[in-house]
Amino acid sequence: MTSESTLTSGTVAGGPIPQTVATLRATFDAGRTKPLAWRLAQLDALRRMLTERAAEFEDALLEDLAKNPTESQIAEVGFVVGEIDHMRRNLRRWLRPRRVAVPGALQPAKARVVLEPVGVVLVIAPWNYPVQLLLAPVVGALAAGNAVVLKPSELAPATSAAMARLVPQYLDRSAVAVVEGAIAETTELLAQRWDHIFFTGNGRVGRIVAAAAAEHLTPVTLELGGKSPVYVDDSVDLAAAARRIAWGKFMNAGQTCVAPDYILATKAVAGRLAAELATAVRALYGDDTAQSPDYGRIVDDRHFERLTGLLGSGTTAVGGESEAASRYLAPTVLVDVPRDSAAMAEEIFGPVLPIVTVDGLDDAIAFIRAGDKPLALYVFSDRRDVRRRILTETSSGAVGFGVPAAHLAVGGLPFGGVGESGSGAYHGRRSLEAFSHEKAVLSKALAPDTLQLIYPPYTEGKDRFARGLLRKLG
Ligand code: NAD
Repeated sequence: MTSESTLTSGTVAGGPIPQTVATLRATFDAGRTKPLAWRLAQLDALRRMLTERAAEFEDALLEDLAKNPTESQIAEVGFVVGEIDHMRRNLRRWLRPRRVAVPGALQPAKARVVLEPVGVVLVIAPWNYPVQLLLAPVVGALAAGNAVVLKPSELAPATSAAMARLVPQYLDRSAVAVVEGAIAETTELLAQRWDHIFFTGNGRVGRIVAAAAAEHLTPVTLELGGKSPVYVDDSVDLAAAARRIAWGKFMNAGQTCVAPDYILATKAVAGRLAAELATAVRALYGDDTAQSPDYGRIVDDRHFERLTGLLGSGTTAVGGESEAASRYLAPTVLVDVPRDSAAMAEEIFGPVLPIVTVDGLDDAIAFIRAGDKPLALYVFSDRRDVRRRILTETSSGAVGFGVPAAHLAVGGLPFGGVGESGSGAYHGRRSLEAFSHEKAVLSKALAPDTLQLIYPPYTEGKDRFARGLLRKLG
């Protein structure tokens, strides 16, 4: 923490956004955020905030999304602590200049890649994992030595308020600020000049962010969503597969960007799998999900109405019950879902799981390829050729064999989408790189001056050398 800050808090809605950005830029330009010691101190402070004030974050998540505190630890607070620890353990090494080979024609010389902070960055987060998706990118932004503005989602207001209250208490206020607010504030933020914008949310807003960034040629990372398919065949233990799928789907009441969106299976598998999904839901949440303290609620009325509107897309095999007052929607599985139904038109982002019948693997692959490239794709098959074909014949941000969602907890894997599901990636080393410029550095002594072989005036000998040289450089 610093006392020399001109910001009194993380600033509140309607606050002086340009002034906040100017303060952060002055801090960055003064070089304050560059030393490794500052970066490590900020990561430590962030970690302290998450551990000392864990209960405040858990309460906020309970209020915003009825998220169970254990789940908040696994997927929000504890997740970010894990990212910090991973970053802290490796940062010194990852920041070391990376030597690269110099072609013979340029020898003697040394070439290296140096990571440098980009400057003042903006992180815009959605509401569904409002702690993880705001702070995990911030770990990378701080580790890379940047000043950063955090923009939490207005749809998770308790968590947003907790961020605005706690972040300034722990982090360097001259370099880190929280700006709360909705579209008006985000629009004003986007009008500023940033050195990187990291956006997590839907593709519609992603386009707004990309267009605003283009005005200043600001690079963006877009972590978007989409319909993540699951392919299940009869070679696997369907009871075990159903448990995994139900866990990944109904966590946070289905409001997870990497949740299974729909299942592709043959008619025979679909029937058996639906029965196993019913058993799995009971095992996870008991006989009455509405009473389970482990099951979340839909974030707001608009999403509740949208989701209940999807229930007619097929035959209800599991769940289907809802209660508007508490925005409860039971874990629901629909079978015999037509490919042109409402449930298959857009990302579901809630606890409705359609099973679409396919003829077999070819049909499933063709169906996946016909849609947008998903954020994740899950395969439950013990057949190696099936796994290989899906891996090589489809494109998606990630592939999970036998497990949904968990790939994002592997720090060594880049997390991000492709095409409509986003561009750029983060987590672990990739978070550091997302917020760094990879500077190319070449050092060549003035003597001996080997380059005189290519200086004008050109001669026949130099021409012969150049033609050989080009082959070597190529
Ligand atoms: P959201 O509505 O909270 O929006 C995200 C952010 O954009 C918020 O901070 C919000 O204030 C801002 N925003 C909203 N409308 C805006 C506008 N018109 N102009 C400027 N800013 C605006 O969250 P959401 O988009 O509903 O989140 C759900 C989506 O995010 C889903 O599509 C989901 O798949 C995706 N998602 C992706 C990831 C990922 O890591 N790839 C993670 C979570 C969610």
